[in-house]
Amino acid sequence: MKSRLLLLAALALSTSVHAHADTKLPKGTALPPPEMRDEAKPAISVPLMKEVTRTLASDAFEGRAPSTSVEPKVLDYIVAQFKAAGLQPGNKGQWLQPVPTVEITAANETPLTIAGKGAAQTFAFGSDYVAASYRVTPQTRIKDSELVFVGYGINAPELGWNDYAGVDMKGKTAVILVNDPDYAAETEEGPFKGRRMTYYGRWTYKFEEAARQGATAALIVHDTFPAAYGWNVVNSSWTGAQYYVQTPDDGASQTAANGWVQKPVAEAILKAAGQDLAALSVAAKRKGFKAVPLGLTASFGFDNQVRKSVSNNVVGILPGKVHPDQYVLYSGHWDHLGHCTPDASGDGICNGAVDNATGIAALTALAKANSEAGPAARSQVFLAVTLEESGLLGSEYYAANPVYPLDHTVGGVNMDALLPAPRSRSYAMVGGDKSDLTSLFRDALADEGLREVPEDHSERGGYYRSDHFSFAKRGVPMFNIERSTDLFEGGTAAGDALSEEYTAKHYHAPSDEYSDSWNWDGIVEDVSLFYRLGRDLADSDFWPNWHKDDEFRAVRDKACAASQGGC
Ligand SMILES: [Zn+2]
Repeated sequence: MKSRLLLLAALALSTSVHAHADTKLPKGTALPPPEMRDEAKPAISVPLMKEVTRTLASDAFEGRAPSTSVEPKVLDYIVAQFKAAGLQPGNKGQWLQPVPTVEITAANETPLTIAGKGAAQTFAFGSDYVAASYRVTPQTRIKDSELVFVGYGINAPELGWNDYAGVDMKGKTAVILVNDPDYAAETEEGPFKGRRMTYYGRWTYKFEEAARQGATAALIVHDTFPAAYGWNVVNSSWTGAQYYVQTPDDGASQTAANGWVQKPVAEAILKAAGQDLAALSVAAKRKGFKAVPLGLTASFGFDNQVRKSVSNNVVGILPGKVHPDQYVLYSGHWDHLGHCTPDASGDGICNGAVDNATGIAALTALAKANSEAGPAARSQVFLAVTLEESGLLGSEYYAANPVYPLDHTVGGVNMDALLPAPRSRSYAMVGGDKSDLTSLFRDALADEGLREVPEDHSERGGYYRSDHFSFAKRGVPMFNIERSTDLFEGGTAAGDALSEEYTAKHYHAPSDEYSDSWNWDGIVEDVSLFYRLGRDLADSDFWPNWHKDDEFRAVRDKACAASQGGC
């Protein structure tokens, strides 16, 4: 599980059942009848999951840091497990998909200089501003780039909202507010789903959109409440090595530099421009807001040390018997943090047992259960991705260079950090009711006698923080479901205690280790649901789509309009 800028979202704790709009499957879709689904009831092997978790989380696997000397051993083990589970190699006869990455470390950063009206102002790197480049280049120099305040920096065609309307960003630097216009709402109502985080509120989106607009650079205004973390987190995340997937253009389609400024820095810059940050922030919340050229320029720069390396995704497949050219995905990341800062006991290996040896164990158990059940109508792809902890890079690489075309990929399920605990009464759909997948989820819960609860801390944007997101943002509907802490025995008091103990003591720590005393009941419940959701999709003709107002609908519709024999 990745936490570049945010803490682990605690498991859902809410006990109230959410009131949702009625969603029905589109006409002409066919799900297998209930009696067929019951026949396909999976045998999820607990001994297999224990063995895979114990092995991958043992010190012999050194915490599974990608692109280190231990990687071949990890890959060999996963391939052996996939073979034993009955999978076939999934990448044109090969098990591996190489993932070329680039590590860029900046040095010799200059101050940020703002000029144009009155005396020039300078701001120090680290304490006032931070920046990095997505481009593979020895030196980044932003010189006299005109500043434009672009509000929240959102271009959402499905909402008729474009903060960049009428401005040409070429050569310019965008100054962007963090989060989205209705983040402070009490409810989840509003064009940007109220307090619930949308993709448009994520900092990654803002830099992507600035690049699409042709901007030279982009600076986000930090503010602790809407960002949900302090400047210290921004500072530590944006200094030191940054990791990216290698692209054919070496990042040339990205902005030359992306960064953040402290709120008082933005206030001072806007004041020099004769503007007021507070007033402009209010104006930016309204549809039809017009970007404001500030009449000022920004200059800053740094040197880049570049190191290229390669890691690998593991790809296995169970070919479908009716529609072998339609694919359902199961994914989970194999990488973890490797050697890390030793704890008080002197243990310096972050083993990543929960995060995410459990996900690879679940992936293996799902492969075995599906191959024992016999081929589904559609093909099922099992993807153990690398470099999640470095920023979802393995899934990003697969989604940008898909082995199986994304317009032929029906949807999928991602598994990240399954917490050992007794069974829970309820599950949440992380991200909320975004797509037609919600109906499948509700059917599965009803059949298992489980309840639906809303995602806890929807303002944290958990949906945008693990590997399913690399597919979702390219339009593929992906499940991210979360077991609640409301245990059948002990309720939320017991469940919260377990969840909080993991977050406080073991998350990304050397003590995230396997134990024979783990209770696997909750994980078995998860994996049974994953089986059901994946198998239902794989045995149907159903092509789920995002709801009309969803941020990923437009990209899916575009892909499907051009698709030959896919969605
Ligand atoms: Zn993690």
